[in-house]
Amino acid sequence: MSNDKRDYYEVLGVSKDATEAEIKSAFRKKAKEFHPDLNKDNPAAAEKFKEAQEAYEVLSDESKRKMYDQYGHAGVSGSAGSGFSGFGGAGFSASDFDFGDIFDNIFGGGFGFGSGSSTKSRATRGSDLLMRIDLTFEEAIYGCEKDIKLDVIEECDDCDGKGGHGETTCERCHGSGTITSEQHTILGSFVSKTTCPICEGRGKVYERKCSTCHGKGKIKKNKTITVNIPAGIDTGDRLRLSGKGNPGTNGGSNGDLYLEFRVAEHKYFKRDNDDIYIEVPITITEAILGCKKDIPTLYGNVKLTIPAGSDSEDKHRIKGKGIDNKSKRTKGNMYIILKVVTPKRITKEQKKLLEALHKTDLEDSTIDEFNKFTKKNDK
Ligand SMILES: [Zn+2]
Ligand SMILES: [Zn+2]
Repeated sequence: MSNDKRDYYEVLGVSKDATEAEIKSAFRKKAKEFHPDLNKDNPAAAEKFKEAQEAYEVLSDESKRKMYDQYGHAGVSGSAGSGFSGFGGAGFSASDFDFGDIFDNIFGGGFGFGSGSSTKSRATRGSDLLMRIDLTFEEAIYGCEKDIKLDVIEECDDCDGKGGHGETTCERCHGSGTITSEQHTILGSFVSKTTCPICEGRGKVYERKCSTCHGKGKIKKNKTITVNIPAGIDTGDRLRLSGKGNPGTNGGSNGDLYLEFRVAEHKYFKRDNDDIYIEVPITITEAILGCKKDIPTLYGNVKLTIPAGSDSEDKHRIKGKGIDNKSKRTKGNMYIILKVVTPKRITKEQKKLLEALHKTDLEDSTIDEFNKFTKKNDK
């Protein structure tokens, strides 16, 4: 898939807040305009048709549309677009759209579509789900296992997903799921195949509706799954759990579940991608005289030699003590930023010592230069 895809709303020519009905009607118009069977001399039409199909698949599905609105094409990649294997029917997966519709409008009746493919219910991939997960700083850094509660829609156990009990062959279509008739139009004769309205393409009917799933064949179940969250996750990162989204219909594959993370801040460790920053407070005398200090890192404490004459904002690097990012296979560094803290309360003795120190006229070339400038400036 190329990245320079057009905006789906633009493709269908609808506004961002278009209703379902507006989207459906816009798609019908485009499909009519660009359908390859009606544009044999215009190869560009096939591309346009595919583009419209793809846009419609996403915008007509509430959860996919939400993902798309939030994340653009990236949010729906792997679902939209991947299933378009042509126009033979199997690749078309707009869930609530019956292709017969379009041709009802053109020919006033059903229409055999593509190379004799039947319009029997097509396999449709289930929609994707998005779930937000909060992690503590530590959980994100070191990785963790999380139990995630999910409402999953699964096949009903009582009827094995059939929706009813007492299966018999549909009398209307004799079990084929489709009804075939011949259509004569100005463009020639067409064999039209439409989905049987009685059994909705299943070929079977049931004596009793399943009371557990109310005939839907599927029920909502509350499930807990344990997810292994790799070390190094950051806010906004997403993890895709393949096949944990909503189930497909008519044998279509399940959608995916996306986990999106929000990582809590740490009081001392600040994160910049895989690097960790920590501000280390030191006293004035530690700054002047230098010292050895225990520095907390993600992997225990490390002794750091702070040289004499250190300043606030001085930066020290401890290599490889940043985040061990398992998914990116990179290791960050740890940065120590010094902060010289001026004492707010001192004892009488300390005051005496400091006054004595002050009289020694502490020398520093930066201060000397500044004082020279001040003198020259005084004219
Ligand atoms: Zn039937
Ligand atoms: Zn059932």
